[in-house]
Amino acid sequence: MEPLIRLAVAVGIFALMAGLETVIPKRGDNIDRKHRWPVNLGLAACNMLMLRFSIGGMAYLAANHAQEWGVGLLNGLSVTAPLSIIVTLFGLDLAIYWQHVASHRWHWLWRLHQVHHSDTGIDATTAVRFHPLEMLLSMLYKTLCIVLLGADPWAVVLFEILLNGAATFNHSNIHIPEPLERRLRWLVVTPDLHRIHHSVLPAEMDSNYGFSIPLWDRLFKTYKAHPQQPQTTMPIGLVTWRNALGFVRLLQLPVRPLP
Ligand SMILES: [Zn+2]
Repeated sequence: MEPLIRLAVAVGIFALMAGLETVIPKRGDNIDRKHRWPVNLGLAACNMLMLRFSIGGMAYLAANHAQEWGVGLLNGLSVTAPLSIIVTLFGLDLAIYWQHVASHRWHWLWRLHQVHHSDTGIDATTAVRFHPLEMLLSMLYKTLCIVLLGADPWAVVLFEILLNGAATFNHSNIHIPEPLERRLRWLVVTPDLHRIHHSVLPAEMDSNYGFSIPLWDRLFKTYKAHPQQPQTTMPIGLVTWRNALGFVRLLQLPVRPLP
């Protein structure tokens, strides 16, 4: 039941964002869907199958067992259910922020994360462009955090849904009117904020690591409000490699890095 709920919400949000991208695109319509979409959606399908037949349900199960056995910080303290849900949501989001920072700072993690940043355009499909090994490592790390935290099982499901929805939204190529965007970015990571993280400029790529809320970037001084170049024309991707990469070549990146 739990994987079905997550899949249904993910597909719904993706369809909504992809639809909005055609009606109110930020960077025009020229985002090379023909070449990028088969690669990005191919990776998504590959990752979904890989997780489905390996450790995909691990996060929820780990939270359930931790609760049953009284393991983890929240299970050891007698906190109320609402507080446990709030701490789980914020605690896991902070953990994912640090995972993202580490993915840029540690060489071997960067080799995996490069798959995500090698996209020369950015839209809702970029949100699912990840190397399968990065997905596996991410699931193991998240599970460890869930057990240590003693996270509430249904808050874990809610977190996965929110994280996935937020990532699809903040990678999307949609135009949000400036007055609304200015207010929205105090609460959530907007597409204009996250697009800066996909800039080819190293100083810009080294900013806006948050996926859901901009709080962690503001707190740890990695927040950048505006890119040097206009949002509509700034180059996206890696500064060292400007060509589109095929599906197989992307899977080889950890062992055959780009020059
Ligand atoms: Zn990144």
